[in-house]
Amino acid sequence: MKMTRMVLFLPFFSAVMLAQSADTGTAHKAAATALLNSNNAGAAHLACPATIVAAPAANPPSGGPPLPAGGPPRVAGGRGPGPGATPPRDAWYAEGGQVFDNLYMLTTKVNSAWAVKTSAGIILIDTLYGYAAQDEIVDGLKKVGLDPADVKYIVVSHAHGDHDGSVKFLQDTYHPHVILAPKDWELAARQANPYSHDMDATDGEKLTLGDTTITIYITPGHTGGTLSFLVPVKDHGEPHLAMEWGGTALSGNTSKEMLRSYISNAGRFQDVADGSGADVIIGNHTEYNDALARLERTKARRPSEPNPWVVGKGEVRNYLTVVQECAKSWLAIGEGRP
Ligand SMILES: [Zn+2]
Repeated sequence: MKMTRMVLFLPFFSAVMLAQSADTGTAHKAAATALLNSNNAGAAHLACPATIVAAPAANPPSGGPPLPAGGPPRVAGGRGPGPGATPPRDAWYAEGGQVFDNLYMLTTKVNSAWAVKTSAGIILIDTLYGYAAQDEIVDGLKKVGLDPADVKYIVVSHAHGDHDGSVKFLQDTYHPHVILAPKDWELAARQANPYSHDMDATDGEKLTLGDTTITIYITPGHTGGTLSFLVPVKDHGEPHLAMEWGGTALSGNTSKEMLRSYISNAGRFQDVADGSGADVIIGNHTEYNDALARLERTKARRPSEPNPWVVGKGEVRNYLTVVQECAKSWLAIGEGRP
């Protein structure tokens, strides 16, 4: 009886819901803003429109020529210099550290890479800009007692220089396998001094090294082959599951097609993460979830205190709702609904 009534009333109910929260840029940004806290505010800052204005004339029609995926991210501190340029170390160096029994944050001030320690070596997720390869990846691993020669896989979230900049050096020096989605291998091949094509990621792929299996999802939106991850972690032996949304930033240059892809993939990944019990947020830009401050809290943590990275399933869900609402905001603006 109850089911029948729900089905009967659903169309009416949906119409009321639509009237209450309009499909406009302003409404979607407000929906994101309502959920903001230190677990997601930086993600919203990079994914949501800064101001809501009517669609600019320059906004490309969907189906037009492909644009640089995601456009240049509006990243605090900038995307850094072009190939070859190395900024002064003070401008980017940050001290990494251990955040779980088996997870280490290798980080500049702006970007983070992650070392997953397994019984058979290391899975490295992202690699930072090339200029940080020695100080943050090689020396960063050594500082936490790990050997860069033990890196067996590098999984690259997407082929932008702030995440794949050190791949070539690491590939040439330590010969790990390198995994990207096919679409981002195409991006990577266009770089000035490209790294060698190795393994294609598949959607839902389980990558096992020793005692650890991470799951890789192909979630296009920020780029055509952005990867997102679920990573099992342990805190003093207690199991948790970390979620990384691999490409976050959007801009007025992101095509409608990519925005639609971003929205549907973030929704799909949200369901997967939720269903898998993900309760930890990690990211590849420090700003997303205030990661540098969180790392400092982790280092100062007393044994009796909770791990600052364990935020709970609800916060993981909110994070992925925030980025979806930001993308919906851009899409509505692009379709003339400020
Ligand atoms: Zn990017």
